[in-house]
Amino acid sequence: MIRYSLACVGEHPFEAWFSDSKAYDRQRKRKLVECPVCGSTEVHKQIMAPAVRSSEKAVPAEVAAAKVAAEIRQHIETTHDYVGEKFADEARSMYYGEAAHRPVWGEVTPEVAQELVEEGVPALPLPKPFAPEPPRRRAKLN
Ligand SMILES: [Zn+2]
Repeated sequence: MIRYSLACVGEHPFEAWFSDSKAYDRQRKRKLVECPVCGSTEVHKQIMAPAVRSSEKAVPAEVAAAKVAAEIRQHIETTHDYVGEKFADEARSMYYGEAAHRPVWGEVTPEVAQELVEEGVPALPLPKPFAPEPPRRRAKLN
């Protein structure tokens, strides 16, 4: 058996097993090799091996990205203190040596985020999928 990293014409990556390379060629020509994401039978071998080795089946990129985002959200929630709208103040006090360094996360307006960047304060704006739900908003849902 031989495993190939394949991609469809839409560049969805997936893996498939074949008894040998001829079996792959044969099945591909007969359109038996199908993309699990979009069902396209126009597939080709990927040049690069995928970096994700743990999964048995191919994972669509969106699913893999969502998983990473969830892990990052979880990591921030469990290792960072939520400081809410005091984020800018907290980040500045740490940057200017007025407070001890600790990992925090919170909310700022885009304008304040820009100011922090311009001041050189090491704050990382989190795109929506990577930002956890603020605790008070979560509490309101209950
Ligand atoms: Zn596809």
